[in-house]
Amino acid sequence: MKPVPLEAYQWPPSNEVLARRVGLDPRSIVRFDGNVASAPPPSARPAALARALADVNEYDRGRYLPLREAIARYHDLEVDNVALGAGSDEFIVLLAHMFAEEGTIATVPAYSYSMYRYAAIMAGATVVEDPATADLVYVCRPNNPTGEMCEIPDVSGQIVVDEAYAQYSGVDALDQLDRGVIILRTFSKAFGLAGARVGYALAKPELIEAISSRQAPLSVSSLSAALALAAISSPLDVSSALSERDRLSGELETLGLAPLRSYTNFLFIPMDEPEKLVDQLLPYGAVTRAYPGGLRVSVRDDIDNDFLLDALRAVLLDTPMPPQYLRYERHTAETLLSVRLRVPGQGRVLVNTGAGFYDHMLQQLAFHAGLDLRLEGVGDLETGDHHTVEDMMRTFGEALDQALGDRKGLTRYGEARVPMDEAIAHAVVDLSGRATANLSISPDEGMVAHAFESLVQTARITLHVTASGENAHHVAEGAFKAVGRALAQALKKDGSLVRSTKGSL
Ligand code: PMP
Repeated sequence: MKPVPLEAYQWPPSNEVLARRVGLDPRSIVRFDGNVASAPPPSARPAALARALADVNEYDRGRYLPLREAIARYHDLEVDNVALGAGSDEFIVLLAHMFAEEGTIATVPAYSYSMYRYAAIMAGATVVEDPATADLVYVCRPNNPTGEMCEIPDVSGQIVVDEAYAQYSGVDALDQLDRGVIILRTFSKAFGLAGARVGYALAKPELIEAISSRQAPLSVSSLSAALALAAISSPLDVSSALSERDRLSGELETLGLAPLRSYTNFLFIPMDEPEKLVDQLLPYGAVTRAYPGGLRVSVRDDIDNDFLLDALRAVLLDTPMPPQYLRYERHTAETLLSVRLRVPGQGRVLVNTGAGFYDHMLQQLAFHAGLDLRLEGVGDLETGDHHTVEDMMRTFGEALDQALGDRKGLTRYGEARVPMDEAIAHAVVDLSGRATANLSISPDEGMVAHAFESLVQTARITLHVTASGENAHHVAEGAFKAVGRALAQALKKDGSLVRSTKGSL
């Protein structure tokens, strides 16, 4: 028999391909088409992989027992209620073969996740409308792509409840396992690990045994299992995703759109010709997804959602697109950091790397410099805060350098003197394009001088700081604020020239 290709799931194009299509930098593409978390979880760090890497030449003979146990604990079940797979898609395909080979499959709601239909095609099954007549019923709860909640039908076929987005709804069918329901869950959505490809099935032990016996011996990689274990062992907080969903929904209504009530991390907006809007949003870098009868947009974080709203206003109301954040990422074996920076901004700042004091210091600097800065990520804090502080300043400096471009039309010089109780700090800055640091910080709380050196090298600025006092925290705080205020002056608009008789900085 010569196999022919089947009609199969199609991934949308990559950022690079989409960016090329509309002449943008791939970094300015923001995806609202994947229903994934807007950032990786703090637990997804190189250190979480160290053990798995040390043993990567081996198979995990225990089939990731600690992960299966953690999943069981998370749901208050036993380990023999859990089967692991490479994403919940693995189970969607497998269960179609198990329960509906050449048979019938229904989905609830009828308009639901496309994978059920492809799984039916793979199993040679027919998709039928009436769940009461189907061998297998996929219940997508809450539903993709509409975001709605539905009832589980009372039918005789095998019921599979796909709870990919259950954390956003707070509703689950765990109490129905005893009557033979199979539940599918994933680490791809609320846990923020879509790229790791880990999902699981929950069911009665005899069903789990039947499922596991039809899987490849170990379809999840040890690296992915390590990331999943770290994620499920940390507290999960979807509250900001939920409040952003409600805010975005309200803002969309003010634009004359009518998103459906959502129990997920995305919104479905009924409309005619959604493809047209998808095409109109793409040149701004916003990637959305058209479905029959509507547009689906994933909810990201506040900055990203504001960007989508700006792009929608530009398209629908013809308003000019306001200046957007520069997006920049820096990854090393020690730190993973992402920056969104807007110069000038309105002092909207949040720095969150876990390096408490220096997060606060960089926030002070950015606030007093009049920037909008969101710097987030994780570092190897178990080795102390040295790498994290250094890299956060370097990442900020590199982003600032990029945001300043040719430094045209800026004042270039700035100076500020800031008291902090008994301490006093004096900073003079030149956006010179050359890295020179002349620092006298006394006493230095630990990394103040090094933090400024890291900034100077990457932002290519000249910086003189003198700061002294009794209390090292006050000295540091005065110094960071003084540098911020000096930067605010240097960044002020001053005509359209490069402030150098050489003509360039
Ligand atoms: N079920 C639903 C309803 C989904 O939307 C998705 C992701 N698109 C999946 C399952 C598949 O998730 P996974 O990454 O775990 O394969």
